[in-house]
Formats: sequence, structure tokens, C-alpha cells
Amino acid sequence: MISVHARCTCGPNEAFQATTIERRDPGPRDVVIDIAYAGICHSDIEHARQLRAGGKTRYPLVPGHEIVGIVSAVGAQVTRFAVGDRAGVGNMVDACRECANCRAGLEPYCSGQRVLTYNAIDRDGKPTYGGYSQKIVVDEAFVVKIPHSIPLQNAAPLLCAGITMYSPLRHWNAGPGKRVAILGFGGLGHVGVQMAKALGAHTTVLDLSLTKREDALRLGADDYRLTTDAATFSELANTFDLIISTVPVNVNLDTYLGLLALDGTFVTLAIPEMPLSISAAVLLNNRRSIAGTRSGGLQETQDMLDFCAQHGIAAEVEVINADHIDTAYQRLLAGDVRFRFVIDNATMMKE
Ligand SMILES: [Zn+2]
Ligand SMILES: [Zn+2]
Repeated sequence: MISVHARCTCGPNEAFQATTIERRDPGPRDVVIDIAYAGICHSDIEHARQLRAGGKTRYPLVPGHEIVGIVSAVGAQVTRFAVGDRAGVGNMVDACRECANCRAGLEPYCSGQRVLTYNAIDRDGKPTYGGYSQKIVVDEAFVVKIPHSIPLQNAAPLLCAGITMYSPLRHWNAGPGKRVAILGFGGLGHVGVQMAKALGAHTTVLDLSLTKREDALRLGADDYRLTTDAATFSELANTFDLIISTVPVNVNLDTYLGLLALDGTFVTLAIPEMPLSISAAVLLNNRRSIAGTRSGGLQETQDMLDFCAQHGIAAEVEVINADHIDTAYQRLLAGDVRFRFVIDNATMMKE
């Protein structure tokens, strides 16, 4: 066993504290990653604070599924990684690998046992612990390569926020001639805008506030509209091929569906607290669809990272000390971050 320093929370209202956790000794196909940075995702807060409807959190919880670092050891049968390589891990560390979805590279939709990076039970029966820790041991099939042109701290959020945006953009064919709207300009939205633009789509940001407008335009948005302004919904009615919602709160869906052009799709990435409510008449109009997606598969995650490297896309981050996770959670919930908190894992050990 490998003992490593980590940060955990022991209950929905408990502050983060320093702890040590055990990582398994690397098996033949395992990669040991010395974690350099771990992004803080909104879903970390949902698990840590047990906010998901019906969701159960196993405490102590070590969150973190935007993990990047350097390979420090590899098992004898590992072929894709060597000591010293830059490596990343997203929100899964295993899946059944045999079902039709796994074989198609759609591991998030595994119909067998999918193992999440934290708050799950691994194949050995032990709880999984995420990236708020010094090292992680993962089968190489669930590890991706981080291109050299992306600084590690800016790459970390791509492992969840990045792939969660990229997968629906690709699945619903964002590209030249298509009009895409991204609802919410935060951790996900700010990488989504860069990707949609690089794919060639006309890209609009819909947000509650104007405070991030300049950032959105700088990152490639063609338009930026307020969701609090009724004119947004009249002027842009029937215009979008794809709306991707990153906001984890219930919105008046009928008003957003009204923005979709013929065969347009509204995709939600987040899980609002209450069930979604829509008027069927709004769906029938323009033959609209509503859909949801999880993140992407392993190959698609690698494709996304390579695409980001090719187009100079990365997350904009605020690097924090591991002592400041609770403060970061508060600020994230208040929308006070440009655009993703990333923990410097060198600060994991408490003096
Ligand atoms: Zn996430
Ligand atoms: Zn499977």
C-alpha cells in the first residue's frame, strides 16, 4: 500500500481536513500518478455536501475528478505510459469494458459496473478517493495523455468541464453553419465557448449577469445575452440549433425551448434539484428535442485534449492552496471565480 496525504470531509456540514489515505500498490496495468493539480468541480460540492436528490455520500469523502500530474511508476504490462509522462484522470477510473457501450468507447454509459473516481466502490471492494490527494493509482485504460502545450494547471479542468462540454458539441454536430448557445458562463461555459468557436459554430452565451461579457467575447463568443432580459427571448426566438445548459438550477424551460430552430436540441449537463417541467406544445413546435449527457468516453477525452492543444484552448484557473478548499466552495457557489479553482497538490501535506 502507498500512504498519501489528502484532504477529506467527514459530513455534509464538515470542513475539509488533512488526512492520509491508502492507494493500492500498482498492478501490472496500473499507472501511479503524482498529482500536480486537481480542479474543483461543482459536482464535488454536490457530493461533499450531499446535495444531490437521493444521493448518498460515503464519508470520509476525498473528492476531485479533474486530475493531472506526472507518472511516477507503471506496472509491467503498461504500454501507453512511462515514468515522467504527463497524465490525466477524469470522473471514471473503471467500467465493465465488455458491454456494447464500453466497446463503443462510451464508458460513461456503461451498462455494467462503472467506477467513479470518488464516492464509489472500486472492483477491490474499497472506496474510491479522488484528486484532492498526492497520488492516484489507475488502470492505464482510464488514463489520458496531457499534451505538452497545455500547462498542467490549465489542463486539469478539461478532464471534467472540458469533456462534458466537448462531448455534446460533437454529438450534436456543432460546426460551421450551426448556431450554438451556451447557458451559463462559468467553469464549463468558458471552455465550451472556446470549443464551439474552434469547431466553427456561431456561439452565443446566455447568462444572468453582464460581468463576464468581456471574458466571453475575448474567448470567442459571437454574442452575449442576458437571460434576465425579455428581449433576449423575443429577438433570438427560433434561432439556435443547439442550446447546452450548464446551470444546476431549474429554469423556465419553455422559454429556452422557444429559442430552438427546427430540429434544435436543448441539452442539459447539470442536474437541477427539481424535476424538469416542459410544455409538450413547445416541443412539437419546430420538432424540438430535449436531452441530457454525461461526460465523454476515454478515447473522446483524449481527442478533446488533442483538439484543445491544436486550437490553443485551455481552462482559465485560480490556483489555490489545499487549506482553502472550503473558501473556494463558498466562492464557487457564489459565482466568484474566473473560471475554475484548481488545487495546487504540492500543498496537500499539512505543515
Ligand atoms: Zn465534474
Ligand atoms: Zn460497460
